[in-house]
Amino acid sequence: MIRLKGKSVYQSIAVGPILVWKKQEIQITDTKITDVDAEIARVKEAIEQAKAQIGKLYHKAVVEVGEESAAIFEVHQMMLEDDDYLDSIFNMIREEQTNAVYAVETTGNQFSAIFAAMDDDYMRARAADVKDISNRVVRILAGQEDMDLSNMEPSIIVADDLSPSETVQMDKSKILAFVTVHGSTNSHTAILARMMNIPALVTVPMDLSELHTGMNAIVDGISGEVVFEPTEEEQNAAKIRVEEEKDKLRGLSCMKGLDTVSKSGKKINLYANIGNVDDVSYVLENDAEGIGLFRSEFLYLGRDSLPSEEEQFEAYKKVVSAMDGKKVIIRTLDIGADKKADYLHLDKEENPALGYRAIRICLTQKDIFKTQLRALFRAAKYGNLAVMYPMIISTDEVLKIKQVVTEVETELKEEGTEYMIPEQGIMIETPAAVMMSNELAEMVDFFSIGTNDLTQYTLAIDRQNEKLDTFYNAHHPAVLRMIQMVIDSAHAHGIWVGICGELGADTELTEQFLTMGIDELSVAPSAILKIRKLIRDSE
Ligand code: PEP
Ligand code: MG
Repeated sequence: MIRLKGKSVYQSIAVGPILVWKKQEIQITDTKITDVDAEIARVKEAIEQAKAQIGKLYHKAVVEVGEESAAIFEVHQMMLEDDDYLDSIFNMIREEQTNAVYAVETTGNQFSAIFAAMDDDYMRARAADVKDISNRVVRILAGQEDMDLSNMEPSIIVADDLSPSETVQMDKSKILAFVTVHGSTNSHTAILARMMNIPALVTVPMDLSELHTGMNAIVDGISGEVVFEPTEEEQNAAKIRVEEEKDKLRGLSCMKGLDTVSKSGKKINLYANIGNVDDVSYVLENDAEGIGLFRSEFLYLGRDSLPSEEEQFEAYKKVVSAMDGKKVIIRTLDIGADKKADYLHLDKEENPALGYRAIRICLTQKDIFKTQLRALFRAAKYGNLAVMYPMIISTDEVLKIKQVVTEVETELKEEGTEYMIPEQGIMIETPAAVMMSNELAEMVDFFSIGTNDLTQYTLAIDRQNEKLDTFYNAHHPAVLRMIQMVIDSAHAHGIWVGICGELGADTELTEQFLTMGIDELSVAPSAILKIRKLIRDSE
């Protein structure tokens, strides 16, 4: 039996077999070969296998997301039949006697760079696809099994760390819990776990070589403990607790369809936080009244190039349409700090949390910002969309944003493209924004308080640093006073104010937030019904 502690990111419990997700590094070297024909035959066979794998993915996607969205897998299959691509690989092997893995990897990189440099948005987006198909062929050539997570048994996912592109392949209905060696409470895995109502532990000091798929485990998100190979008795006791948790959730389902209003008649807009288009299903399932934070940066992560305007437009339109008139607040790109995208080539920084991130990137790389704003303003025609800007510290930044918005509007108007300028707000997540909230409130339509960053910047505690846990006080009076200050500034200027950081879902503070005058709370979908009940039970 192995018993370990980690940091819990969602308080629930799970029992079941584990699935050990191991990332294997493939060593790619330019070792020369002698039998050219045999090497070419190896590539041909690997390509056939890759096509078969992609064919399976296509059929799964047709069932799950429809033919239109699944079409990308057909494109992948076609790419694997492209003569230029294949000739380039075969020529490298013939002329330079390079090995198959090296030839496929190099050709993939070269073709991907060609696509990335193209003017057309659609073609540029294909850079990631060429990389993807080449990686698949490389994995097959290197004898690595494609972990078919689409047909997995219900399992506890155990990993070193998980990237969004890895979790995206998993059948969410089969994930019982996440346990990772790395990751923070605000990592994608953590956000996903909260979304799905499943326990997750991060920073668990596991030795993955001691664990194997199929081993049983208990993940206790309440005590923060994971037990591998527990005793029969422990498993049975945990199973009872799993059922109790389920009962609790079932008990809350009577909150669906009810207003979020306190006994004295104070109405709160109870919205949900999401990171992906697919998360909308959790929002609807939990009867959230809107989406208070769509972390759009997840559209930019786990890929090799920027998402195009069309791609973003389709994603935003899908979310607002699915929400059918309910408010959807989309936050503009908040990349940098813990959220990295290699293709942006951001320099390594001494203090990334205090570095080049979010609105700072958007205001200096205006093309990226404008592409997103164009997609947002076009999608605004299809529902109740609002835009929110992260990491603001000054009125000057808001003026600069307004200038870019005007430029984008002029361009859309001149082209005759359909658009709408939606409601626009800012996140209050820096002490500077709190202190400037009176002035800022005159310039925007709403405030949303990002308590995750506001707490880190106020207490000078890095939100990723697990060693500082003992110093961290989520209820620090400095943060609570700041929240009050922001609420007062917003109301003095007639705008609404919400909280979209994790503190918004802290049930110990719900009643206090009501008293403080908060207008909106945006929380993980799994917390919606619990908070609604608390508000309805409050004075
Ligand atoms: C916050 O900082 O509270 C917030 C909601 O933004 P993120 O967690 O994405 O930084
Ligand atoms: Mg933030």
